[in-house]
Amino acid sequence: MPEGPTVRRFCSLVSPFVGQGVVSVSGSTRQIALQDLKEQLFQDCQVHGKNLYLAFGCGIMEQVPSHELDDWESDGSHGEKSLKDWSLSEGTADVSDDQRNLGTGQGNLLRKWLRFHFGLYGSVRANELSRAKQGNKRGDWRDPKPRLRLNFDGERFLVFYNCRMTWCSSPFVEPTCDILSPEFDKEKALHALSHPRPVCFTLMDQRHFSGVGNIIKNEILFLAQTHPLSLGSLLPAETLVALIDHAIAFTADWLRNKMQRKGLRYHIYMKECCGKGHQVVKEAIGPPHGLKRLTWYCPTCQKHVNPGEAEQPIVQ
Ligand SMILES: [Zn+2]
Repeated sequence: MPEGPTVRRFCSLVSPFVGQGVVSVSGSTRQIALQDLKEQLFQDCQVHGKNLYLAFGCGIMEQVPSHELDDWESDGSHGEKSLKDWSLSEGTADVSDDQRNLGTGQGNLLRKWLRFHFGLYGSVRANELSRAKQGNKRGDWRDPKPRLRLNFDGERFLVFYNCRMTWCSSPFVEPTCDILSPEFDKEKALHALSHPRPVCFTLMDQRHFSGVGNIIKNEILFLAQTHPLSLGSLLPAETLVALIDHAIAFTADWLRNKMQRKGLRYHIYMKECCGKGHQVVKEAIGPPHGLKRLTWYCPTCQKHVNPGEAEQPIVQ
């Protein structure tokens, strides 16, 4: 089984390809959509435990209005790190809209990580294919089939054998809290959301919803027709489940669009009116001693079920 050191060797094989664009993709895997990797820029590689993480993204920075930049910059050290990383790699200080708004998982939908686990026999090769070492029972000599092959310029390529792969938002995040991970634990998320705390605070809490940021927060609260300041403890379980389901679906859609370099259509974020024509409210909302984030909501579609409790904390 490839253990940490072997995986580090795999990392050293792939690292010379960092900074290059994927020209074409093939392989037998069904765990990811191969076309998602086509024409992506291979940005980084890291090893954590027995997992190899490769970062991909489009190399194009989107111009962004500066009015929310202060908001982003005070988002915490983790966020600043990814911001600097990105700025360095792109040679620009501009920040894209979604990177600015993705909480501690920020930038993660701009820079996606593909996590590889090599199971018992997995391996990576650079610019060479694995060859059959022995024949099968019928005496056929068949070369192993790559799960994934990434072709780069100059007929150079990387091949990955016998591995599992999944997209994730960050190598540093516990997969059960990672909104993009198939291991995301909905029960745990439901428990966190059901606390007597405004749901919009919990949704931005990266300990519970890593990868969720301000845009996702605004959009899923609208989709679940929930007021941002509703206390989780007073909302019906179906509403909390709907919020989680919307968070998963919306984030997955965004990733798919991002990988295909398509834009995202917002329902409420930065809108004047909701789809039904109601006037949208825009307010800076955040925990008492935490960061206030611009929040858009429709007071008609997103009824506040418990306004008293949320606005006037009980003082004992
Ligand atoms: Zn409305």
